Amino acid sequence: MSMTIEQSGNKESLGRKIGIMGGTFDPIHFGHLVTAEAALASFDLDQVVFVPSGKPPHKKDYHVTDAEARYLMTIMAVATNAHFRVSRMEIDRKGYSYAIDTVKGFKELYGQDTELFFITGADAILEILTWKKVERLLGLCQFIAATRPGFDLQALDQVLTKLPALRGRLHFLEVPALAISSSDIRRRVSEGRPIKYLLPETVEHYIYKTGLYQDRNETGEER
Ligand code: ATP
Ligand code: MG
Repeated sequence: MSMTIEQSGNKESLGRKIGIMGGTFDPIHFGHLVTAEAALASFDLDQVVFVPSGKPPHKKDYHVTDAEARYLMTIMAVATNAHFRVSRMEIDRKGYSYAIDTVKGFKELYGQDTELFFITGADAILEILTWKKVERLLGLCQFIAATRPGFDLQALDQVLTKLPALRGRLHFLEVPALAISSSDIRRRVSEGRPIKYLLPETVEHYIYKTGLYQDRNETGEER
């Protein structure tokens, strides 16, 4: 069983460049994992820490799966990668999770001179202006934006104009054409369609074993 970063002790052994991969992970899939691996290699990171969200502020509109189940699926998915970890930071925090609180938490955990890279889909960067204390956040970490197939980079121009501090702190990462999303996986399960090869087998088995996403109302698309 892999350890949480909170359990793994000794700051020195943890390295200097850390990627933070936040997400709902409802469920985690190969899009997330390929992105994390690409970030690790391209930015020479020592490790990537997956941070399943507690109560996500931007997903109030559907029933998000219990945090412990999302955490378990994330643990299972990263178990085979020595450079991947999972953090309970957001799950154990009460109330909504904001990136600024998580990044501050990681700075305390790893030491102030550890370089932090917040890994996110480029689509999420389009909403960065709505994030809590975004200017402060940019002072604490850099951003790696994974571009999904079909993403229009020009859409970011407006954001960069409104938030010049983002320039130089934002890096792009092209990931292989992975048009995989958690919402599509949830919909597939509720409709009895296959999810094989979209996510790790262990996670696939866990979903079927526990009956997750069987109920249409839980997938979020049918409300
Ligand atoms: P949903 O369909 O419910 O929105 P999701 O597949 O986008 O789920 P999240 O948990 O919301 O998954 O994503 C966590 C992070 O991973 C976000 O920054 C998101 O942009 C990014 N991400 C999600 N899917 C992919 C993918 N296929 N390739 C690259 N990045 C992805
Ligand atoms: Mg999403």
